Amino acid sequence: MAEVEGKRIAIVGGGLVREIALKEYKFFTFSNLVQRKRREKRELLSSLQVGALAACFFAKRGHQVVVYEYRSDLRMEDSSGQSINLALSFRGREALRAVDLEDTLVKQNATSMRGRMLHDKNGNLKEVLYDNVKGNCIYSINRRYLNVILLDAAEKYPKVQINFNKKLVDANLDKGKMKFLNVKTGTIEDAEADLIIGADGAYSKVRKIMTKRPLFNYIQTYIEHGYVELSVPAGKNNEFAMSGNNLHIWPRGEFMMTSLPNKDRTFTGNLFAPFHVLEKLKTSVALLKFYNKHFPDLLRLIGEQRLVQQFFEREPQTLISIKCKPYHVGKTALIIGDAAHAMVPFYAQGMNAGFEDVLLLDELMECYNSDFAKILPKFSELRCDDGHAICDLAMYNYLEMRDLVMRKSFLLRKFVDKILYTFIPNSWIPLYFSVHFTRMSFRECIAHKEWQDKVLRMNLWCFGIFIVAGLAIFLAQSTI
Ligand code: FAD
Repeated sequence: MAEVEGKRIAIVGGGLVREIALKEYKFFTFSNLVQRKRREKRELLSSLQVGALAACFFAKRGHQVVVYEYRSDLRMEDSSGQSINLALSFRGREALRAVDLEDTLVKQNATSMRGRMLHDKNGNLKEVLYDNVKGNCIYSINRRYLNVILLDAAEKYPKVQINFNKKLVDANLDKGKMKFLNVKTGTIEDAEADLIIGADGAYSKVRKIMTKRPLFNYIQTYIEHGYVELSVPAGKNNEFAMSGNNLHIWPRGEFMMTSLPNKDRTFTGNLFAPFHVLEKLKTSVALLKFYNKHFPDLLRLIGEQRLVQQFFEREPQTLISIKCKPYHVGKTALIIGDAAHAMVPFYAQGMNAGFEDVLLLDELMECYNSDFAKILPKFSELRCDDGHAICDLAMYNYLEMRDLVMRKSFLLRKFVDKILYTFIPNSWIPLYFSVHFTRMSFRECIAHKEWQDKVLRMNLWCFGIFIVAGLAIFLAQSTI
């Protein structure tokens, strides 16, 4: 085996912040593709999760890691203000467990969500459990807190150095050479590494450099829907205003609201809607009319004044899905997390899949003794099609969450799934379960669902044939 211990690893993107800044930026409306410029208070949502976690794994194996992060250190900033949360599930938890972070993050600082709570227009509730047999839950976790824990954990390894305010502006991925803009001084600095890990998010510079290489395929899709983040305050006596152990959904066909509980008994929610709907919500009158019509129960919980203030605080954000292949360049560069497979957020798998990337990378390091000439191609081979599969699943789940969940046919299918899963839990694994509570590859999750659909269709046909045959025999006998 090649002697490769102690390589120099550069991780681009990994020490993130949630920065609030006044920025000029271009805003696209998808209904008419009119490009407008807006000056506004924009909250930069990107974080750093995947890069900081990768730093822990590489350092644990004895490599020398330097993390270069474009933004400043969020631990130095004011932590007050609205919290944004993420749903963490099995894939993410497994990765955290491998670096001893699961206990701190999940057991002590997350809120468990045992199922979806559906809210209809009349305020009626319907709970759909994620797992009626084994009681598996997903966990709502504060994004800022998660980032702080990951940064602290990475910095505890003597072999990890985190450089903030360093923006990758160019790289020779074959030679491991990089150029960074020092955001504070405005100067360009050179750096070198044996392996460059691009964990620099959906708008990755590392991936952009890869797109210029032959045989690199890349598809980027903006969906015609955007989102606005809103928070629901704690209720009376500082208790949750709704059930604190559910992911709440207000499905309304073309659009929906969701909200996740926080440790401080507030909820963080999002309105997801097509831009042509969001564009009509330009005034407080229009906004309140819209909420009164579609989400009256939620409006009561948020309050009119708070809703108006939060809604107009920032522009609706866009949602992007990215597929590319391969994820590596030779033995010197690799992209992971959103850089490799940014997806729409409806399966709550973006971060989880990114964490699983890191776990897979670690498993390959174990298998190939950190020989990156073998690891990187294997990673692409195992992960690219899976990355595409979870991007497709995330798109599908938007339709399920905003529309299908209210349909009788869908609920019947869920019911059949529930019955079969109860009696044969090891053979009949519903799609949602396999994505959130197993490490089955995303492609297998889809294949498994297709197999289940086939079985149910065949049974339906057999049942139909049985009924028709029965009727025919009955009619034949009664006419004799
Ligand atoms: P990022 O978090 O984007 O981090 C990239 C880092 O790279 C940033 O810190 C950035 O500053 C830095 N960077 C960028 N360019 C450069 C450069 N040129 N040089 C140096 N540094 C650079 N996922 C879930 O699993 N569960 C959820 O519930 C969930 N909910 C979501 C809700 C919404 C509304 C959205 C939009 C996403 C959600 N996601 C969820 C997805 C999740 O947020 C992302 O998948 C995850 O944050 C990706 O992490 P990352 O580290 O790959 O990228």
